[in-house]
Amino acid sequence: MKNDVVAPTRLTDMEHLDLRRISIVDGDLHLGALATMAEVAAHPEIIREWPVISQALLLSASPQVRNMGTMGGNLLQRTRCGYFRDVGFNCNKRLPGSGCPALLGDNRDLAIFGGSPQCIATHPSDLPVALMALDALLVLVALDGGTRRVPLAQFYRLPGTAPDIETVLQPGEMISKVVVPSGPHARNSVYVKVRDRTSFAFALVASAVCLAVTDGVIRDVRIVLGGVGPMPWRLPEVEASLRGRRVDPEVVATAAAKAGDGATATRFNKFKIELARRTVLRALQTVAS
Ligand SMILES: Cc1cc2nc3c(=O)[nH]c(=O)nc-3n(C[C@H](O)[C@H](O)[C@H](O)COP(=O)(O)OP(=O)(O)OC[C@H]3O[C@@H](n4cnc5c(N)ncnc54)[C@H](O)[C@@H]3O)c2cc1C
Ligand code: SF4
Repeated sequence: MKNDVVAPTRLTDMEHLDLRRISIVDGDLHLGALATMAEVAAHPEIIREWPVISQALLLSASPQVRNMGTMGGNLLQRTRCGYFRDVGFNCNKRLPGSGCPALLGDNRDLAIFGGSPQCIATHPSDLPVALMALDALLVLVALDGGTRRVPLAQFYRLPGTAPDIETVLQPGEMISKVVVPSGPHARNSVYVKVRDRTSFAFALVASAVCLAVTDGVIRDVRIVLGGVGPMPWRLPEVEASLRGRRVDPEVVATAAAKAGDGATATRFNKFKIELARRTVLRALQTVAS
């Protein structure tokens, strides 16, 4: 709003809603949409059972921002593409059909996965990368009080020909809660974030990895990249190449080398492909050790 990117005619204050609770119900973590990033990051059971969530949040923004930022707001943060936030430029996301100057312009921070000829913006938040690796669900509530549950993996939309429509949220709907399953994979999880400076910066590339190992064999693995696409980008082929294999440095290195497969770089962001491989390797080595 400060940048004149959006000019709503009406604002809704949600502060009074009872949506700030953090609880554990039948082993699942329930995060109210108004729980702050700071209180979720510091929650002792989250640190123990879902460390990737706490780590992703602590590597986000600054303490002051985390004291104010909420689960719902972070999931719906708009892209940091500089053209989107500068009304002096055209932008298909801000003004559909006006063009995408990033395609041939400053695209260093932008997408290598999931982009379209209309938009190559990235989703900037860290939290959803961790939540995607944990197969989280969102509970959405409509104006008439009706609710529906949407897997996070189906919540964000690819830009295609309509980059202005970013999620499956309908008019009048809001996020009320995030539900996160637990398990050995969640307990053994990590978030690795690479950025231009070590604090208060968005991810160039990040990786959330969860790994469950029994008797030296990988039973469950989830690998998600952040900073590379319009939504957290899961790597099912890399996961498949690890599932059922013994935990072995060579197996891990061979799998991580596939992390850039299928990427499409633009002029200034080719480095992200190799960075994706190295970030996944670092994350896998951490949880496998
Ligand atoms: C300088 C700076 C650096 C930052 N660095 C990072 C970073 O490194 N990593 C990172 O992940 N984030 C970063 N952030 C983002 C920050 O962490 C917050 O997540 C973000 O600013 C959203 O704040 P908020 O929760 O107050 O949401 P708001 O700004 O209030 O809301 C954001 C959007 O979500 C909508 N919304 C909010 N809640 C709901 C809901 N429950 N249901 C439906 N719609 C909703 C609002 O209408 C709005 O459109 C940074 C922010 C700043 C300002
Ligand atoms: S990448 Fe997307 S957000 Fe950025 S200028 Fe192009 S259309 Fe706009």
